[in-house]
Amino acid sequence: MRRLPVFLVVDVSESMAGENLRSLQEGMERLIKTLRTDPYALETAYLSVIAFAGRAKTLTPLVELVAFYSPRLPLGSGTSMGAALEHLMGEIDRNVKRSTPEQKGDFKPLVFLMTDGKSTDDPTAVLTRWKNHYASRVNLVAIGIGPYASLEALSTITPNVLRIESATEQDFKKFIDWISASVSTQSRSIGSGEPAAVSLAKFDDSVMKKIETIAQATAVDEDFVVIQGRCQTTKLPYLLKYERAKQALATRDFRMDAVHYNLVGVFAAERDFDELSDPRASARTISTESLIGSPGCPHCGAAYAFAACSCGQIFCVQGEGQATCPGCQKQLNMSMAEGDFDVTRSRG
Ligand SMILES: [Zn+2]
Ligand SMILES: [Zn+2]
Repeated sequence: MRRLPVFLVVDVSESMAGENLRSLQEGMERLIKTLRTDPYALETAYLSVIAFAGRAKTLTPLVELVAFYSPRLPLGSGTSMGAALEHLMGEIDRNVKRSTPEQKGDFKPLVFLMTDGKSTDDPTAVLTRWKNHYASRVNLVAIGIGPYASLEALSTITPNVLRIESATEQDFKKFIDWISASVSTQSRSIGSGEPAAVSLAKFDDSVMKKIETIAQATAVDEDFVVIQGRCQTTKLPYLLKYERAKQALATRDFRMDAVHYNLVGVFAAERDFDELSDPRASARTISTESLIGSPGCPHCGAAYAFAACSCGQIFCVQGEGQATCPGCQKQLNMSMAEGDFDVTRSRG
């Protein structure tokens, strides 16, 4: 039996925290449910899920649809397109059977690569390797989620680049349905032998747009500030996510022209966060003066998630008094700060 390997390569960098990640998580369950009702897909499609942030990891190895269960999507720091492709190439080498004179191998793998950001590394070398050794035997579709996704690099290696303009729940559903329809279409078309080109389903162009030029593939300006903290009690990481305010703060006799950011939410990450994160420290800083809103800790419920140690670690505190920095283990005496301090911005 010749298989149709399908790889979902999913960006789980910190900017995905919240709505996007939840939509993807639900989307995967929806995808598998739909595909299981398609006899062609059930017979040929095998599915694998790879997550990437600063580093990449296989969440579900290539498995037949009946045995597939959707994995929990983790979070990590950074957006390394290079690491994602590198990992994918390794998975293809290990799991996709190539044709030999004695036997036919698997069908051309179908890859859906989804990202919402700019790559925080330079993927040029990896892209060249992909282009020379993989591009012709893999059908890769790159999907940019939202206006901040930079697809420049990817548009040089695949003609199939799409962007979901706004990532509303409804749009996401349509997007996921399009992926299942594409897998179905492709499984059907290979029923009659190896097709010359990939058969993707038709898509609703009010939801997704095909990227035709490099200009369309570049990202619009940022967007979000994501700050990484760590819970003093559980030692688990969390993310504070802020979005750039659309308008300047202004009243009749006061105007704040400086860029400021409003709190979107605080998101709990798990122990596997570091495993998927870029180990290089980030050098970008932002003044807390421009960040509006300060939430509590999503792990232990402490009232302030935005305490800072001189080592640079952001952590949670209940209030004033004794605390231990979960970064450097220093004993600290916390008091409410006057004025502002600079904190390190997270990558990706
Ligand atoms: Zn906490
Ligand atoms: Zn510290």
